[in-house]
Amino acid sequence: MIFIFLGPPGSGKGTQADLLVQKQGFQHFSTGDMLRAECAKGTEIGNLIKQTLSEGKLVSDDIILSLLENICNDVQGHMIFDGFPRTLNQAIAFDRQLSIKNHKIDAVIDFYLPTDLLVGRIVGRFSCKKCSSVYHDKNKPTRTPGVCDVCLSTEFIRRSDDREEVVKTRLDAYERDTTPLREYYGKQNILITIDASLDIETVQNELLEKISNLGK
Ligand code: AMP
Repeated sequence: MIFIFLGPPGSGKGTQADLLVQKQGFQHFSTGDMLRAECAKGTEIGNLIKQTLSEGKLVSDDIILSLLENICNDVQGHMIFDGFPRTLNQAIAFDRQLSIKNHKIDAVIDFYLPTDLLVGRIVGRFSCKKCSSVYHDKNKPTRTPGVCDVCLSTEFIRRSDDREEVVKTRLDAYERDTTPLREYYGKQNILITIDASLDIETVQNELLEKISNLGK
C-alpha cells in the first residue's frame, strides 16, 4: 500500500513514520532526507539545493521529479512518502508515474496542528551528529545534558532551516503549496485528517486504526 504523509514541518509526521517502520515494517521515503543527502555530497546540484533549503523555499519540481525517477520502480509492501508531493504538479506527475506501474495511492494522511504550536516544536529541535536521533530543548531533552541517549555521542547539530525566521517562511510555503493538494486528494476521497497535537502514542494508535480500517 502507498501512503502519503502530508503535514507541516514540526507536525511529527517523521516520528510517526519512523514508528511504523520500526514496529510494522513499513518503508519510509522522505524527500527532505533525500535532499539533505544530496547537499552532503557537495555536487553542483547539491549546492544549488543547499541554497534553496537554507532560505526555507521549495526545491523546484524538476529537481524533485528527476531525483524521484527510480523510486516508483521500487514500490513494494507498505510505503510512506513523507514530504512528497508538496505541490499539485508533483502530485499529478506522481499519479501518472504510479499508474504506469499499476500502482495507486491508498491514503493521504494529513497531520493537522495549529501554527503557533508548530513554531514552538521546530525552533529548539536538534539531533545527534552520529546517529541522527532527534531531540528538543524543551519537549525532549537528552536524559544526560549534552549526551545522546542512544549512542552516547556528545556532538549535536541543528538544521539551518529550523531558525525562527526561516521556519515562518517554510510554514507559509507549506500552507500556500499544500492547500491545493488537500483539495486534489479530498476529491479522490483518500484524504484522512489526524489531530497531530496529541501525544506520540495517541497519534500512532489513531493512525494504525485508520490504516487498518482502509477498504472496510
Ligand atoms: P522536510 O525535511 O520535509 O521538512 O524538507 C526540508 C526542505 O526540503 C523543505 O523546506 C524544502 O525546501 C525541501 N523539500 C522537501 N521535500 C520537497 C518537495 N517534495 N518539493 C520541494 N521541496 C522539498
